[in-house]
Amino acid sequence: MDGQAAAQVETVAVSGADPAGRIATLLAAQKAAWRADVNPDRATRDDRLARLDRMLVAWQDRFATAISEDFGNRPAIVTALTDVVPVRAAIRHARKHLKAWMRKRRVSLSWTGQPASAFILRQPLGVVGIVAPWNYPLNLMLSPLVGALAAGNRALLKPSELTPAFSGVLQQAVKEFFSEDEVAVVTGGPDVAAAFTAAPFDHLIFTGSTAVGRKVAEAAAKNLTPVTLELGGKSPAIVDRSAELGEAVPRLVWGKLLNSGQTCVAPDYALVPRERIEAFLVAAQAEVERQYPALSDNPDYTSIISAHHFDRLTRLVGEARDGGAQVTQLAGAHDPARRIFAPVAVTGAPADCALMREEIFGPILPIVPYDTLDEALSYINAHDRPLALYWFGKDKEAEQAVLNGTIAGGVTVNDTILHLAQDNLPFGGVGASGYGAYHGEAGFVALSKEKPVLRQSRFSGVKFLYPPYGRMARVMLKLLSKLG
Ligand code: NAD
Repeated sequence: MDGQAAAQVETVAVSGADPAGRIATLLAAQKAAWRADVNPDRATRDDRLARLDRMLVAWQDRFATAISEDFGNRPAIVTALTDVVPVRAAIRHARKHLKAWMRKRRVSLSWTGQPASAFILRQPLGVVGIVAPWNYPLNLMLSPLVGALAAGNRALLKPSELTPAFSGVLQQAVKEFFSEDEVAVVTGGPDVAAAFTAAPFDHLIFTGSTAVGRKVAEAAAKNLTPVTLELGGKSPAIVDRSAELGEAVPRLVWGKLLNSGQTCVAPDYALVPRERIEAFLVAAQAEVERQYPALSDNPDYTSIISAHHFDRLTRLVGEARDGGAQVTQLAGAHDPARRIFAPVAVTGAPADCALMREEIFGPILPIVPYDTLDEALSYINAHDRPLALYWFGKDKEAEQAVLNGTIAGGVTVNDTILHLAQDNLPFGGVGASGYGAYHGEAGFVALSKEKPVLRQSRFSGVKFLYPPYGRMARVMLKLLSKLG
């Protein structure tokens, strides 16, 4: 989804006047607090994580209500499953492993370094800025925060202007559980976001569109602030000839329609063997009707975030249809008043239409036919590197060919979305879908400085290399050139 599009939506600015000044004040306070405790001990970090968990428990109903208000309708169970539960799991995981993650790592030295010793210290970076999108507003704000707090940092949070109700509730909740110099929330639109990402943080984690990600990388470069960019893109799902449609289609439909397709790792389009397309469409129609027997008044089906986004989806389908594509309604009918976009499959869309070029971010499934696996892989590799890739099938050789022959942020084989939900798997994009990764230890490391330390011993051969360079230095140089 393009960042400019979101920026055109009318937003409610909940920040006060002079957002840049307010951000600078908060950042200065957090930096000062960091200087007073550069490397918080485990108990301090654990206490912050425990408070974050207590905050989630105490405020989860208010979070769910606010998020539903922002969407128009977003089932509380979806918010629990995709926002609250994964963050609480990440907190549990971090607390369990914190001691091991913080431990200093001994490193062996080559003979030239003997008898010195060496180790790596993992230290906090300082103050981390976190910018989140609207689609999983709690998860994408607080999961990075878990890594930031575990690694001993302080953090400023900037939620999306498209979730004003949630942003307000988050601000109150954070105030109740954290001091402003530990964690604070800054709200506002793209202007506030731009000021935020231009501030001299010690690290920025940005989750959002590729278009805005580019601006963030540029702004951060001015301060040499390192950035983790969690972006989007068109994630393919390949249905292999060896796949059982009865197994693959329900899993693909679930991943596509979760949050009505407003998911960064949703399968964007499906590559299906040409001769199986009819059977695939029949199975998809049956499965959508099974998962969502009614649409307009179905409390399980999430609304599209704004009228602007709804209209964009309508345009994507209309343009493809005008270009000769066949549109198959998978269930129900659109209800623009409630921003219910009925799921559709699109076959035969022209390659140059927006549907086939842009990330869809909605319940529209283009189907791309293929004859050989090589053809499917060439299609994927001719496009930007995706955030996620899915493969369905039983043929192990084909599976290997797909895993070896493509580059993607992450993969789930024979299902969708799930690789994202495991704290032992680093999560992040590649190429246009972003750089850097977080979750679990990867998040801890991304937000730490791994500081190498060498401790010299009392006895050191380095003195033989001191000037003036005589015979001994030349002998040492010979030795080093041969064995060093
Ligand atoms: P967006 O890029 O429009 O907005 C994201 C955030 O950027 C918002 O908080 C917004 O205020 C801020 N922003 C806007 N203009 C800015 C600027 N000039 N400088 C700095 N920040 C600015 O994205 P969105 O529409 O909220 O979210 C959808 C996109 O996010 C999709 O592309 C989706 O794939 C991606 N996404 C990625 C992940 C991931 O983990 N990789 C997760 C969810 C969503």
